[in-house]
Amino acid sequence: MTLKRITFIVLLFLVCLAGATAIVAQDEPTPEGDSGGMDAVVGTPIPLPTQAARSAPVQVLLGEKSRLDLFFANMPQGGVGLMQVEGEDISGATADWLNHLIEFFPIEGEGYYGLLSVGMEQATRRDNPLVVNVTYADGSREAINTSVEIVQGGFIRQEVQLPPDKTYLLDAETERGELARLESIFVQTSTERMWDDTGFTMPIPAALTSPFGAFRVFNATLNTRHTGWDIRCTIGTPIFASASGRVVFAGMLPIRGNHVIIDHGYGVYSGYSHMSVVNVTTGQLVTKEQVIGMAGNTGRTSGPHFHWEIAVNGEWIDSVAFLRTWMP
Ligand SMILES: [Zn+2]
Repeated sequence: MTLKRITFIVLLFLVCLAGATAIVAQDEPTPEGDSGGMDAVVGTPIPLPTQAARSAPVQVLLGEKSRLDLFFANMPQGGVGLMQVEGEDISGATADWLNHLIEFFPIEGEGYYGLLSVGMEQATRRDNPLVVNVTYADGSREAINTSVEIVQGGFIRQEVQLPPDKTYLLDAETERGELARLESIFVQTSTERMWDDTGFTMPIPAALTSPFGAFRVFNATLNTRHTGWDIRCTIGTPIFASASGRVVFAGMLPIRGNHVIIDHGYGVYSGYSHMSVVNVTTGQLVTKEQVIGMAGNTGRTSGPHFHWEIAVNGEWIDSVAFLRTWMP
């Protein structure tokens, strides 16, 4: 067998592993003057992310009756991290973090887990206080105190050109109004874990093409930030729910176009934008990988693509980083 032949077989194997679309998309040149389906600069597509296996905690802090495990060393801007509290007769746990109150969720035989999130605009700083409050069955409480370093998110800058029929969306007030509407949804924390043990998945098995957190300049006038990831796809591509949950928004928004928000419980929300067709209604329960709509070109876009975003405890976080985080 020649080296060339072996290389070909190895490549074929890798293509099957990573998902054919992710690799094929790298070979497609983006035509001049065509956005290539993106509302921004087309970067090198990254392979489809998969959820990490369960890992050991990075930091262990001992309280009087409980232990707190942190599954991260530090937190990047726009990042998410997992915490676990274990001990005898724990009846609940919350955390005070960057002016947020975080509700922990119980997992049978494993104690309580909580998700720490950091906004993409949060200042980098070494010592950010984290207080985890543990409540016991007899009504007693204890607080475990520590601090967490916030490091840079490493965001890129992108120039985006909107077509003339969409330039009316270059309005900071419109964007502020839409974000305020979304925030009013995200502050409602339902204490029901609706995702299952298989965790979260990509809404479509296609290449990611424009990253979370990017500093975006629209038509050289409007400065904004990218709250999710963009995914290369054509109009009509089916969009799947990332995990089970309850639809808390299904309708038209100026920037996000036809948009769906799914509440997964405990402050975790996923958002699906620019769709041509929405198949679900507010209040509906959906299962993981259920088709919730079709990709489109509605809202503030420069061409057909799909935008996927996740908010955790009231902050936009990197949906790909979230997907790669092991979730109990
Ligand atoms: Zn986007």
